[in-house]
Amino acid sequence: MIEINLTDKHVLITGASRGIGAACAKSFAAAGAILYLNGRDSDKLNALCAELSEEYGVNCHALPFDVSKADDVKQGFQQLFKLTKKLDVLVNNAGILDDALVGMVTPQQVENTFATNTHSVIYCSQYAARLMQRSGGGSIVNVASIIGRVGNVGQAVYGGSKAAVIGITLSLSKELAATNVRVNAVAPGFIDTDMTKQLTPEKYQERVNSIAMGRVGTASNVADTVLFLASDLSVYVTGQVIGVDGGMLI
Ligand code: NAP
Repeated sequence: MIEINLTDKHVLITGASRGIGAACAKSFAAAGAILYLNGRDSDKLNALCAELSEEYGVNCHALPFDVSKADDVKQGFQQLFKLTKKLDVLVNNAGILDDALVGMVTPQQVENTFATNTHSVIYCSQYAARLMQRSGGGSIVNVASIIGRVGNVGQAVYGGSKAAVIGITLSLSKELAATNVRVNAVAPGFIDTDMTKQLTPEKYQERVNSIAMGRVGTASNVADTVLFLASDLSVYVTGQVIGVDGGMLI
């Protein structure tokens, strides 16, 4: 078994309070990383930090801010800079899903979804890259989606926001490669989290039926791939989008 050791690595995960972000936090804690966990609910983040510190003996800091707002991201990173002058890994995971058929889409849905899922990736990467470059490099892992690659009915807004994350990943990987900052993405398929619990039982089953492996993915399945992209096992990998979807065919 390959063991990933991230001792002394400083890792910021956005949207870490539950779902895929919380699973990433757990995997990184098991690998010994120093954690900075973001979300909007400081109580939840403090509780998760306490749990991970207790279980894995790691340093964990709650870093609550709203990733959808440029000023809040700036303040969040100022706070981070007070805690550490070094950042090795950023996982841009925070995201929302607010589906509607195109005729029903409101400007507010478009603005919230793109601000949370897409603008946040640029703002967080901007500050993170500066910190990473100070210490010789780092790894940015963006959580995109299969919907950003193949699209889906009722998901023009969400799919657009995630396709943009893939475009950002590809461009940043080229821009930051010379300073040894790698930028990759994962594109999860259908993963069992609060986000997918929003579906009706019929839609849920329809999605499961479209997965070649015949089962829904777990948040830790995604976290394992994020961990690989964050670690030195992928030291020569940049500008890639890895599907974590059990062979999903939408
Ligand atoms: P989830 O269980 O709903 O968790 C979303 C996380 O994002 C929560 O921690 C939430 O924290 C945080 N968040 C939302 N808006 C935020 C904001 N403005 N500022 C800071 N944090 C914010 O969702 P998930 O399924 O784990 O999804 C994680 C990522 O994977 C998302 O980008 C999603 O699009 C992507 N993804 C998921 C699936 C799937 O099947 N589940 C498939 C493909 C891609 P608070 O609400 O506490 O702030």
